[in-house]
Amino acid sequence: MAKNPFENALEQLEKAQDIEPIDSVAYEIMKRPQRILEVSIPVKMDGGGTKIFTGYRVQHNDARGPCKGGIRYHPNVSIDEVKALATWMTIKCATVNIPYGGGKGGVICDPKEMSEGEIERLSRGYMRQIAHYIGPDVDVPAPDVYTTPQIMAWMEDEYSKIVGKDTPEVITGKPIDKGGSEGRGTATGMGGSYIIREASKELGLNPSESTVAIQGFGNAGSVAASILSKMGYKVVAVSDSHGGIYNKDGLNIDRVLQVKKEKGRVSEYDGPCEKVSNEELLELPVDILVPAALENQITKDNAPHIKAKLVAELANGPTTPEADQILHEQDVLVTPDILTNAGGVTVSYFEWLQNKKGEHWSEEEVNKKLDEIMTPAFRDVYTKAKEKHIPMRTAAYIIAMHRVADAILKRGY
Ligand code: NAD
Repeated sequence: MAKNPFENALEQLEKAQDIEPIDSVAYEIMKRPQRILEVSIPVKMDGGGTKIFTGYRVQHNDARGPCKGGIRYHPNVSIDEVKALATWMTIKCATVNIPYGGGKGGVICDPKEMSEGEIERLSRGYMRQIAHYIGPDVDVPAPDVYTTPQIMAWMEDEYSKIVGKDTPEVITGKPIDKGGSEGRGTATGMGGSYIIREASKELGLNPSESTVAIQGFGNAGSVAASILSKMGYKVVAVSDSHGGIYNKDGLNIDRVLQVKKEKGRVSEYDGPCEKVSNEELLELPVDILVPAALENQITKDNAPHIKAKLVAELANGPTTPEADQILHEQDVLVTPDILTNAGGVTVSYFEWLQNKKGEHWSEEEVNKKLDEIMTPAFRDVYTKAKEKHIPMRTAAYIIAMHRVADAILKRGY
């Protein structure tokens, strides 16, 4: 049976605690969410009846600032998953040193089976139930799996009506004309590309001589492919759920993007290439491997066959703990998800700052500020990993837990 995700999160905290412990009370505090809210949301369905949905909002820790984290709409949402995701948000925000704690929300529902009107009523109903427990300086939600900028706009509107004033800074990931930030759509791929650029320097990988394979060609993977090829890397393989393509001399990424847009799958690419499966893509002879699709892709079975020198985890949780250990022993540098894909939450932070100040920054400004967050975060984590001879993931946990503990202790518990 798959492990309870919250137990997984606790194990990761424990691993870091064993190497460089934080104050024992601060550790006990971090092992528990500060607040868990369960709500029932009645929604009038198009067919005439009313259905009651269950939703959650978990505020894991707010010692470093307001809780921050997305809202997930999925049939498999469970309280343990939301608790785990909230814990990881505390760690992610502290890893990149932005002044937020961690939170997460979820509603058990299947948005693919619901009409737009039903989703709007559900979203407004969920916000009515949590409105008195969140706020721009308390807890700031955002999109996650199957929640969109439009859903954020409905939730912001509902919140603003409840508090009686326009409050765009209560939620991020909004449409740009509703107070969203430039660069939010590309932030995850952009932030991940900065991390790859910095890791390449450490490994002596010159972009123009380095090959890259990317698994997953959605929001995260396709943007990374485009930016990395603009940075001069040779992107030789990409894939989506229908399979992948490979050309050892490099793919024309602009053309792949166009084909994906027009035909829905990268395998329709008409340039020179051979077809590869998603499993084969992971084991290609490349310098850099970027998992940007699903969790648990790199396992104890395929990890020994991975040839990349750098694995940059743009997806959440693509590497199992056993595989992580194998890669570490093989001297493969793994930049962990909590660092590599933190560009998304970082630009969410920028959106919140712009809303609070009534400003609107250009895309260029956003990307420059993103670099100024991602690059020092990489340095901190890489330096700690080298100093302690540990994987970057554990190093990131150590740094993040010390930052959170410091805030807990300074506030006093
Ligand atoms: P997305 O839905 O836009 O894209 C997912 C991609 O993965 C699609 O191209 C899909 O075809 C592909 N895919 C699905 N099943 C696959 C399989 N079996 N093998 C290979 N590819 C497969 O999602 P996204 O937003 O790009 O997210 C991808 C990963 O990045 C997720 O783990 C997500 O949690 C993580 N992430 C995304 C963001 C963000 O801002 N988008 C932020 C942080 C983390």
